[in-house]
Amino acid sequence: MSNFHPGELDAIARHVHTPFYAYSADMIRARIAGLQNAFRGLDIRICYAVKANPNLAILQLMAGHGVGADIVSLGEMQRSLKAGIAADRIVFSGVGKTAEEIDAALAAGVWRFNVESADELQLLQHVAQARGASARAAVRINPDVDARTHAKISTGKAEDKFGVSIDEARRWFSRGASLNHVRLDGLHAHIGSQILDLEPFRMALQRVEAFRRELVEAGHAIASVDIGGGLGVVYRPGIDRPIDIADYAALVRETFAGFQGTLALEPGRYLVGEAGVLVTRAIRVKHGTDRHFLVVDAAMNDLLRPSLYDAWHEIVPLHGRAEAEVAYDVVGPVCETGDTFAQGRTMARCEAGDLLMIGGAGAYGASMGSTYNSRPLPAEVLLDDGRYAIVRRRQTLAEMMAGEQLAQAWHET
Ligand SMILES: *Cc1c(COP(=O)(O)O)cnc(C)c1O
Repeated sequence: MSNFHPGELDAIARHVHTPFYAYSADMIRARIAGLQNAFRGLDIRICYAVKANPNLAILQLMAGHGVGADIVSLGEMQRSLKAGIAADRIVFSGVGKTAEEIDAALAAGVWRFNVESADELQLLQHVAQARGASARAAVRINPDVDARTHAKISTGKAEDKFGVSIDEARRWFSRGASLNHVRLDGLHAHIGSQILDLEPFRMALQRVEAFRRELVEAGHAIASVDIGGGLGVVYRPGIDRPIDIADYAALVRETFAGFQGTLALEPGRYLVGEAGVLVTRAIRVKHGTDRHFLVVDAAMNDLLRPSLYDAWHEIVPLHGRAEAEVAYDVVGPVCETGDTFAQGRTMARCEAGDLLMIGGAGAYGASMGSTYNSRPLPAEVLLDDGRYAIVRRRQTLAEMMAGEQLAQAWHET
């Protein structure tokens, strides 16, 4: 959070309704450059996982640095294209691609499909055939490794819904000839998110590489290997120890030393997670029988991670006053006990009107937002070099209700 200056956020909060997200362009650029430098000399493609933060201005930053996109829906494709990411730098992942989505992605000319089931492979063949197109595809391998992360963001164990076993993938390649509209020439693996330990990556990548060698020996050409995302970031300063990007790159270089094709990376959280904060204002302090509740104007609908994953986020008052410390339960206004950002968190005493920033909110923050309790989506601002741009204005109540109507026009079923 060192990139965010209290004075700067305070100044913005005079013009922008709280809560709002603030992102640091500098920090995102530094992360992109760090990744590009670590892999210098290799044929790599960084495809940013759009779901982490799909704001057009964030995607525009990615596009400006030659970063592509990893998408899981047509909405994410539209955003990526609109922000200037070339279609041939887009990979399409996800277990539930529909015929309509596949058709639109083929029409746009995406780089490749990361295919997650035999049924999807057949569908890809049919849709591509109907278009007279050829689809490039990678099989998403489920390498059956434990990413040692939160259960809700582990994706590479045999019981997870993602990918197919190596045995099944082997059958796909041996039957490949029957798919005359699908060029199956890639492998893909993504084992989970917020991974802080290199070992799960080592195991997964070694399994993928061993399988690639086996395929090549059997006469199959493998043009690309997509090693997914998953790199963890710091939420708890001094406690979370992220993987050193140099170690990660060294592992990839060593594991794929014998591979001549393109390596794709799909980082999401790593590029944007630490580059965002949620700025919120204290509404009141409520003293319960044995707890002090700091009620703020942000809630679980704005930042879901604490409720969904029991995630720990740094919370810092911006008032700068020398105050005695108090242990607060920091809660939002939503009618759910789970609407709690922190419990018993010690910080300088706050009062109504004080601003606070919630750290580590750049990834899976705004993107997971909802209007639960009919709270409009918050504004998002991008900070760059002492200036800021509003990259999403706060939703109006009319916009929130747009599309709804009273039941007047009835249709026979
Ligand atoms: C979510 C996801 C990513 C990004 O994960 P991070 O942990 O944010 O890096 C990459 N690839 C796929 C297929 C995903 O589903």
